Amino acid sequence: MTRVPDDPAYPLVAASAGTVDELDGMLVECRACPRLVAWREAVAAAPRASFRGEEYWARPVPGLGDPHAQVLVVGLAPAAHGGNRTGRMFTGDKSGDFLIASLHRAGYASQPTSVRADDGLVLTGLRLTAPVHCAPPDNAPTPDERRTCAPWLTRELRLIQPSVVVALGGFAWQAMLATLGEQGWQVPRPRPRFAHGAEAPLTGPDGQALTLLGSFHVSQQNTFTGRLTPQMLDDVFRRARELSAP
Ligand code: SF4
Repeated sequence: MTRVPDDPAYPLVAASAGTVDELDGMLVECRACPRLVAWREAVAAAPRASFRGEEYWARPVPGLGDPHAQVLVVGLAPAAHGGNRTGRMFTGDKSGDFLIASLHRAGYASQPTSVRADDGLVLTGLRLTAPVHCAPPDNAPTPDERRTCAPWLTRELRLIQPSVVVALGGFAWQAMLATLGEQGWQVPRPRPRFAHGAEAPLTGPDGQALTLLGSFHVSQQNTFTGRLTPQMLDDVFRRARELSAP
């Protein structure tokens, strides 16, 4: 079935993607959420003074990193002037600076900074993605937008089959449990609670295993206030590496 990108059901084409590259190629065409399409384009039309003259990406931002990753890091959604500007996840803003520096210390990132899509950053053994791929107003996607976007994450999980998923924040934690539950994974009731450092071992429909790890999100709200320190995030990625070791 052919679907046009404006169709609310367009994300269902994700199921036909045979590779991560193919998935990303379909994703960047998506216009299934009218509110988010309007917002991502409105932000691009009125850039911050410091980015005036730059051409914003203003489209869905695909995952970034290793298509054979053992560790998948799931955030919330692209930042209006970060990923929505540069076209790359966690690139060009303070959240990205904090996260990529930690990934570099953990040995997953080739360099400690993530400034532009062409800055040469390579992630090995790890991929970054989000349950919502377009920048939302106030960094707050609606439950409907999360559900509409879910087929992209569902297919990405199937194609990558990570052994560890790091959920950055409660939204990502809940989105992962919902997505895995819909795929037939055994999700305990009551659902495991999100906390920084929380671990939830989960079993898939074919007996596959995955550990969901919780971390506070790398937003400035957390990093500027000291709620999330570099050491705390480093500890999460050290644990992710331990859990994903063969
Ligand atoms: S948030 Fe997801 S489903 Fe909605 S328009 Fe963007 S890519 Fe498509």
